[in-house]
Amino acid sequence: MSALLSSIQAVDALRASEERFRSILEELEDAYYEVDLAGNVLRCNGAFCRMLGYAEHELVGRNNRMFQSKEAAAAVLARFRQVYASGISMTGCDWELLRKDGSPLLVEGSIHLVRDASGEAIGFRGFQRDVTIQRETERALRESEAKYRGILETIEDPYYEVDLHGTLVLANDALCRMLGYEMHELIGLSYEHLQAPEISARMQAHFARVLQSGVAAQGVDWEMYRKDGTPVTGEGSVQLVRDLNGKPTGFRGILRDVTKRRHVEQALRESEARFRALTNLSSDWYWEQDAQLRYTRMESRHNRSGKAPNAFLGRAPWDTALMIEGGWDEHRRTLLEHRPFRDVVMRRNLSGGKPYYISVSGEPFFNADGSFAGYRGVSREITDQKLAEERIQHLATHDVLTGLPNRARFSQLLAESIAQARNAHARFAVLFIDLDRFKHINDTLGHEAGDRLLREVTARFRGAMRTTDVIARLGGDEFVVLVRELDDSARASAVARKLLAAATQPVMLAGRECRVTASIGIAMYPQDGEDEQTLMKNADIAMYFAKEEGKDNFRFYTHEIKSQSLERLLLENHLRRALERDEFTLHYQPKLHLTQNRICGVEALLRWNNRELGAVAPADFIPIAEETGMIIEIGKWVLQTACAQNVAWQHSGLPAVSMAVNLSVRQFADPHLRDDIAAILASTGMAPELLELEITEGMMVNNPAHASALLAAVKQLGVRLAVDDFGTGYSSLGQLKNYPIDTLKIDQSFIRDLGASNEDRAITEAIIVMGKTLGLAVVAEGVETQDQEDFLRARGCDELQGFHFAHPLGAAEFADLFARHLHGLA
Ligand code: C2E
Ligand code: MG
Ligand code: MG
Repeated sequence: MSALLSSIQAVDALRASEERFRSILEELEDAYYEVDLAGNVLRCNGAFCRMLGYAEHELVGRNNRMFQSKEAAAAVLARFRQVYASGISMTGCDWELLRKDGSPLLVEGSIHLVRDASGEAIGFRGFQRDVTIQRETERALRESEAKYRGILETIEDPYYEVDLHGTLVLANDALCRMLGYEMHELIGLSYEHLQAPEISARMQAHFARVLQSGVAAQGVDWEMYRKDGTPVTGEGSVQLVRDLNGKPTGFRGILRDVTKRRHVEQALRESEARFRALTNLSSDWYWEQDAQLRYTRMESRHNRSGKAPNAFLGRAPWDTALMIEGGWDEHRRTLLEHRPFRDVVMRRNLSGGKPYYISVSGEPFFNADGSFAGYRGVSREITDQKLAEERIQHLATHDVLTGLPNRARFSQLLAESIAQARNAHARFAVLFIDLDRFKHINDTLGHEAGDRLLREVTARFRGAMRTTDVIARLGGDEFVVLVRELDDSARASAVARKLLAAATQPVMLAGRECRVTASIGIAMYPQDGEDEQTLMKNADIAMYFAKEEGKDNFRFYTHEIKSQSLERLLLENHLRRALERDEFTLHYQPKLHLTQNRICGVEALLRWNNRELGAVAPADFIPIAEETGMIIEIGKWVLQTACAQNVAWQHSGLPAVSMAVNLSVRQFADPHLRDDIAAILASTGMAPELLELEITEGMMVNNPAHASALLAAVKQLGVRLAVDDFGTGYSSLGQLKNYPIDTLKIDQSFIRDLGASNEDRAITEAIIVMGKTLGLAVVAEGVETQDQEDFLRARGCDELQGFHFAHPLGAAEFADLFARHLHGLA
C-alpha cells in the first residue's frame, strides 16, 4: 500500500514538475526543441512553432528533415553526430531551416545530448533563435563599411575612429601619412601611444566630455608625435560613435594637419614676445590705437597705475583720465595728421590725488593698401623725474629758509597780476617790508637766531593775509606782499597795519625775548607805476620814507616822496650791496688800429644790473659811487676783473691786446692806488704794459703835484697812461708834457659833429697833430659813421673806438668777434 501510495505520489510529483517545465518553455521567447536519436520531434515550444509556421501537432512525431533545407541537411546531421559522439554540447551554430511556406530561415542554435536515467543517449534538445534579420544587417553593414572606407580614402583630411578605450579601430591613408605609420601598424594602437602624457590627459578630458554630453567637440588641438618622433599638430573634431541600439562604442573625427600654422603662430608669438621684451626695456606700457584713435591694446610691464587698462580700451586718449598740459588740441591735431610723436608728457591722478606722469611716444602704422590703420607706441613712467623737476623748479623759485616764493617767482607773479589788472581795470598794491633792527639781532645773537626769527615772522605775516594775497622774500630781511582784489587804498593800509602788528609780537630767541618792528612802503597799481620795476622801486622808496620817519611804520608812495633825494637814496642803497650781490659785470669795447687794421685793445666799461632797478647807466651810478667813496672798492674790482679777463683771453689762444681801465678822481686820490695796482698785476699775472689806465684832464689840473708824483709811481710799474675825454678839460699842451702820458683819447663830443662842425673838425685835427708831435698815440672815441672813420684815417689818427666798429661787448662776445676779425671774417 505504501509502495503504491509512494508511486502515485511520485507520478503526481512528476506531472507537476512536467507542468512547470512546460509552462516555462511556453514563456520562452527562444524556440525549444527535443528530438530522438532518429531526428523525430518529441517536443517543441510555441516559439518554435511560430518560427516555422507550423502547429505543434504538425511537428511532433515528424522528422526534422521536414523543415531542413536540402543543402543544409548534411551539415546539420554531421553536427548531431558530432554531439552524439563527443557528448559535448554545441552552441552558437547557424543553420538554415525552411518555414512551412517554404521560405528560408536562418537560425542560430544549440544542440545538447539528452540521456535517460541510466545515462544512455536517447535524443537531442536545444534552443534556436531567428537571426535572419541580424545576419542580413550584418552583411549590409559589411558592404556599407567597404563603401564607407572607399569614401574615407577619398577624404584628404586624416580620419580616425577609436573605441571607448582609445584604441584606433579605423583610420584612413591621410591619417597614416600624417603620422608616418602603415595602416596595419596604426590600427590597434592606443591614441596614448601617439602623444605626450599631459596631452593624453587633455584629450581624455575631451573624450569624456563628448561621451557625457553627446555633443561633438570642434577645433580640438591634438599634439602628437609621428612614428619618427617629430611633433605634429592636428586640429579636429571628436564625435561620439554609437551602435545600432544607440549605445556609445567609441569616437571618431576628422583632423587637419596644422603643424605649420601653429609653427607660424608660435613664431609670431615669440617675435611679439621679443618685441615686447625689447620695448619693456625702455618702457612701461605698449599700446595700440585703431584708425579711430581708440586704444585697442595696452599692456603694462608692471601694473602700478592702479587702474585696469580696460578703462582705456575702446577710448581715444582724450576720453580717458589722461591729461595733457595745455589741453588735447595740439596732440589731437598730430594724431589726425598721422604724424609720429615723441615724449609727449601726459598725466593722470591716482587715487589720493597723487600724480602719475608718463612720457608717450607713438608712430602711425598703415595697412598694406597704404590706408591709415592706427597708432602704436610706448609709454614710460616719468613721475619721479617729473616730481624732481618740480622740486628743482620749486627750489629755483622759492626761498629755502622760509619756503616763500623768491624774488624771481615774485617777479613772475607781479607781471601776471599786472597783465590781469590791466585787462580787468583792477587795482592792487605792492607792499615792501623791511625789518628794522634785524641786522642788529643777527650780529648779536647769531645767524641761527636770525633764521629762526625770519621763519617766525614769515609764519605771522602769512597769518595776517588773505590766501589771494602773495608774500615773497626778496632776501635778507626784505619781504614783499602783493595785495590783490582791492577797491581802494584802505585795504592796503589795513593789511600793512596787520603786518606791523604781527611783526611786533615778541619772539623768544636764545632765551631772550626779542622784538622786531617793520617798515612798510606801499605802491598802488596803476597810479604809482604800471610796470614791475616802477612799482617795486616806488614801494621801495616809500619804505625808506617810512624808515626815515622813525620805523615801525608804513607809508604810501606819494608825489612828495618822489623827490630827487629819495631816488638817489634808493640808488645808493642798492649800490652799496651791488658788489656783494654780484650785480656788476664788465663789457669790453674794442679799439681798431687804423693803419694795422687790427684790434689792438679794449676798454673795460662797468655795467650794473640791479634786480629791482634793472640796468643802471654808469653816468647815473658812477657819480654816486664817487661821492660815497664806494668807487674805491668797485674800482679795485674792475681792475682785478679786467686784468684776469685779459689773461684768460690770452690763455684761450687769442693774441695779447691792451686793456684800458677807467680811473675815477676818488681812486686817483687814494693813497693805496699804486700798491693795489701792483698787487692786482701780480695776482692775475697780467703784463703791465698791456694795462692802460684812463685818467681825465681834471685829475691833472686840480692837483698837479700829486698827479705827477702818482703818475710817475704808477708809470714805474710799467703800466701805460691815457687821457680820456681829451679836449673837454682845460689842460694845455704845455701841461701834458709834464706827465708820463702815452695816449690821448679825443672826446666823443668832437667826433660826433665832425660832419657838421668846422670847429670840431679843426679841434680834432689839432689834437691829432699835437699828439703826434708829443709822440702820443691818438684814439678817437665815439666813432659812429664811415665818414667819421674816413676823416680820422685821412688825418692820421692811430686808433678808433665807437659803435661803428663795435659796441661794448660781453667777454665771450668779444672773444668771438676778435677771433673772427683775426680770420678776416669781421
Ligand atoms: P668813457 O670812459 O669815455 O667811455 C666811453 C663811453 O662812450 C662808454 O659809455 C661807451 O659805451 C660810450 N661809447 C662808445 N662808443 C660810442 C659811440 O660810438 N657812440 C656813443 N654815443 N657812445 C659810445 P659808458 O659805458 O656808458 O660809460 C660812460 C662813462 O662811465 C665812461 O666814459 C667812463 O667815464 C665811466 N666809466 C665806465 N666804466 C667805468 C669804470 O669802470 N670806472 C670808472 N671810474 N668809470 C667808468
Ligand atoms: Mg674811458
Ligand atoms: Mg671817454
